[in-house]
Amino acid sequence: MFETLSDRLTTVFTSLRGKGRLSEEDINTTAREIRLALLEADVALPVVRDFIAHVKERARGAEVSKALNPAQQFIKIVNEELVQILGGESRELSFSKTPPTVIMLAGLQGSGKTTLAGKLGKWLASERDTPLLVAADLQRPNAVTQLQVVGERAEIPVFAPEPGNGVGDPVEVARESVEQARRNNHNVVIIDTAGRLGVDEEMMQQAADIRDAVQPDEILFVVDAMIGQDAVNTAQSFLDGVGYDAVALTKLDGDARGGAALSIRHITGKPIMFASTGEKLEDFDAFHPDRMASRILDMGDMLTLIEQAQRTFEESEVEKMASTLASDDDFTLDDFLEQMSMIRKLGPINSLLGMMPGMGQMRDQISNVDDADLDRITAVIRSMTPAERRNPKIINGSRRLRIANGSGTQVSDVNGLVTRFFEAQKMMRQMKNGGMPGMPGMPGS
Ligand code: GDP
Repeated sequence: MFETLSDRLTTVFTSLRGKGRLSEEDINTTAREIRLALLEADVALPVVRDFIAHVKERARGAEVSKALNPAQQFIKIVNEELVQILGGESRELSFSKTPPTVIMLAGLQGSGKTTLAGKLGKWLASERDTPLLVAADLQRPNAVTQLQVVGERAEIPVFAPEPGNGVGDPVEVARESVEQARRNNHNVVIIDTAGRLGVDEEMMQQAADIRDAVQPDEILFVVDAMIGQDAVNTAQSFLDGVGYDAVALTKLDGDARGGAALSIRHITGKPIMFASTGEKLEDFDAFHPDRMASRILDMGDMLTLIEQAQRTFEESEVEKMASTLASDDDFTLDDFLEQMSMIRKLGPINSLLGMMPGMGQMRDQISNVDDADLDRITAVIRSMTPAERRNPKIINGSRRLRIANGSGTQVSDVNGLVTRFFEAQKMMRQMKNGGMPGMPGMPGS
């Protein structure tokens, strides 16, 4: 799902790594690349335009963040704009105060309505609802049988016209199904309607007649995400011809680009309520814009990290580290200790550092540090004189033994720490002279 777009966006953000701050040119270049990525993903042009305008405006207005580097800041903005374009909040089904709640499915033939009826029925049943599926697609040969098969698999009863009575009237079937539901205590009715291969007056009229007869609480427009921008055109025709309250996107599993998902809400103004992601009945769920956005960015972990970094790094600490980085003074053991305590606050270091670009070296340095190690390192550093902390090169063999004794550690611990520190110091110098991406207080900020 959305692989192409994810890959493109990842490449775009990679080119921002190593930037100290965002220049106007960086913003323009990055915005241009995101624009291309969206167009390639078959997102509708008006949606792309709005999206890019918002991203640019926000990137320009973004304060210089102390907790996030430019790449992370851009990712955050794009993520938030993706959530917006996908609809912001999740939209839940609204149930009627006087059951049954009537849900009507409309959409082209092959869009996945029948399958969706079964999936939705099963999903509702798992929430203790008692749905009834209704076969009001009497046009297509086998449509009734197909719904019966789906109903059997989903273990949901199906209301269908008696066989042998001719073609039957779908409006009548829909109306009767609501009566039947009331009699048999089904609290939800899901009406599968007839579709055509293309948009068609007669089909629209029939759907509108069913709508008028049963006055659904929710009309769901079911659309195949794999048809890309055509989905947007069809969505508009159904909006004009029948009208609907929300969209159910199907076949997202086959949609490498994401154009329909990203365009439909913006173009129609209707929320996406459900997503179908496979042929199995279980491949179905309520649609959550935030989850979908992080899936598109394929950076869920990075986003978690960004939030965590913002929460963990208090301004004062960040400022202190930033000034250490900016000053000409050399990196000392006191700074080293402080850095390590800050990083530990971020939680499981291994996984965190693994997510960050350019953090391999630092990970080797710190990944094996646990709280006990940190205590030991603190004790060793505290047993040094201030001069030694500033310049550990002056610590000779006899001082190492004294420090080990003073801190209740071994000489090998002192040696290990000093070696580690020199490596970190080297990295810090490199960073001051050029910079790598990362976070404040860590090489690569
Ligand atoms: P209808 O004509 O609108 O009722 O569409 P159907 O429910 O008959 O679905 C058409 C085809 O799409 C069937 O072969 C389904 O198995 C398939 N299908 C439906 N939903 C999905 C989905 O989410 N993913 C995939 N891969 N196939 C789906």
